[in-house]
Amino acid sequence: MTPIIGIDLGTSNSLCAVFESGQPTLIPNAHGSFLTPSVVSISADNHVLVGSAAKETRITQPDRCAWVFKRLMGTDRKVEIGGHVFNATELSSLVLQSLKQDAEAYLGQEVHDAIITVPAYFNDHQRNATKQAGELAGLNVRRIINEPTAAALTYGFHDRGAEKKLIVIDLGGGTFDVTAMEVFEGTLEIISTAGESMLGGEDFNDRLLSWALAAQKMQVELAEIKQPLLVSRLRQECEAAKCALSSQPDAAIRIPNQQGEIDQNSPVLTITGDQFKELVDPLLKRLARPIARAVRDSRIPPEEFTDVILVGGAKRMNVVHSFVRSFFGVEPKCSFNPDEVVALGAAVQAALIEDDQAVEDMVMTDICPFTLGTEISKEFGSRRSDGYYLPIIHRNTTIPVSREEIVCTLHPNQRHVMINVYQGEARKVEDNLFLGKLEVNGIPPGPSGKPVHLRFTYDLNGILEVEAYLPETGKKFSLVLTQYAKLSSANDLKAAVQKLQSLKFYPRDDARNLHLVRYAERVIGEISPFQRNELEAVIDNFEQSMGSGEREWFESAREGLLTMLSALGFDYSEDQKHS
Ligand code: AMP
Repeated sequence: MTPIIGIDLGTSNSLCAVFESGQPTLIPNAHGSFLTPSVVSISADNHVLVGSAAKETRITQPDRCAWVFKRLMGTDRKVEIGGHVFNATELSSLVLQSLKQDAEAYLGQEVHDAIITVPAYFNDHQRNATKQAGELAGLNVRRIINEPTAAALTYGFHDRGAEKKLIVIDLGGGTFDVTAMEVFEGTLEIISTAGESMLGGEDFNDRLLSWALAAQKMQVELAEIKQPLLVSRLRQECEAAKCALSSQPDAAIRIPNQQGEIDQNSPVLTITGDQFKELVDPLLKRLARPIARAVRDSRIPPEEFTDVILVGGAKRMNVVHSFVRSFFGVEPKCSFNPDEVVALGAAVQAALIEDDQAVEDMVMTDICPFTLGTEISKEFGSRRSDGYYLPIIHRNTTIPVSREEIVCTLHPNQRHVMINVYQGEARKVEDNLFLGKLEVNGIPPGPSGKPVHLRFTYDLNGILEVEAYLPETGKKFSLVLTQYAKLSSANDLKAAVQKLQSLKFYPRDDARNLHLVRYAERVIGEISPFQRNELEAVIDNFEQSMGSGEREWFESAREGLLTMLSALGFDYSEDQKHS
């Protein structure tokens, strides 16, 4: 039996884990790292690069590179890179393919099945797009689980005897989730969840970027069009400054020139921790709302949470840490690596599905994060008004769940009814997310008020099925909201598979060397012009040696490049640990 792998498909980084020898275990990528940046680039010779090598390209060739595309999941936005047009589902599938290859190399066998985590607050479109990305990557997606649930599974697995009330606050690169849960005697019960799928570490980078550009009297949108290389390098500088502020009182941001180059003469902006706090204050305020809602929905008073757990890369920011501490009045903690805890939990979920002996005493219950319902019209005296929302499954209901409601025809001899399905909390459907529609026809003629029974079923993957039933005729209609509109037909899916198959990945062994080349190319922009020729010559030599098949040449060329980089002040192996 091939194992099921657990995948944390993150905005910034993705990870893969497997349950083996009674433990969740992370799987290293071709570079030996557990973190694979969720970045895709297409090289000039039409090869796909995923991960850290692609991330390096992001700075020198931003037009050949896509990143933060998790934010576009479930939308019809397209991204053009290196002359190819992709949607976010396709880009994510390339990341998943790369992780699948890593898992196969690690396990020494083919991998077919996977569990993929998504932010708890991902809507139905986003979940389906994720599932489809898995399918495009050749994976049978056995379960989609919520990231905070996965994080809690890691805690639950390692601390089974505990009786605790936990709140997991997950601030990743692009999304924010808060989940309250209770653990007792190996049972993990998710109680409430709230979040924002457009709030994460990237927003903190963006605020710094706007601040740095404003200091240069530039606007982000204009600069991005007119000086893309400057912006891509400056964005990297801003992210580095944000991370530095997690451990030091101030940080420097070097302003690149139009070509995106930095040297000793580049202007430098210094930002202090206090200035940063002020700058990101609107983002901190946005964190408060979902936290308050998850706490309120859980009906657990804030002071009763035994553990406040911060996960996700962006939790390392001091401003976030102190914000959460002041909200709960206790020190937040994370006894596991915040980057790894979600992937590990996905592997625990795999063990639960596989009925592994090591988890036989564990039980987990999850919830539906949103209210799901349909559109109805209301009567006001002799007037009717459309567009009202009838909730059928309420948010934070334990899943799987199936609920029924009866709606009625409005007019005499009405032969059909359109069931519009929505997700959200608003009173009027126009403020909720439209998920799909189901046409119910063949209603026998007669007076108004004929009943149509609606059944909403929400499964463990967070996928909704809507059924309608006409009691008079026994006729049934159903709609499974598993198809995202942009890849809706089998033909579309086939075309996407063909398109992705026509792209070539670099051989896995080359990935490490290509990363070094891309890293060195990025360094070109950070050294003085008179050092450039020499470095370029060493890179050229290394690149040529890679395809030569001559081991000695290759090894001495690689060594030469590493030595040169180190002489220029760039410690490749050290930087790789942090990339
Ligand atoms: P994730 O999606 O959970 O991998 O989180 C990635 C986000 O964490 C990115 O926005 C990173 O910039 C951010 N991040 C990683 N390390 C740090 C750090 N030391 N300080 C602040 N933010 C960080």
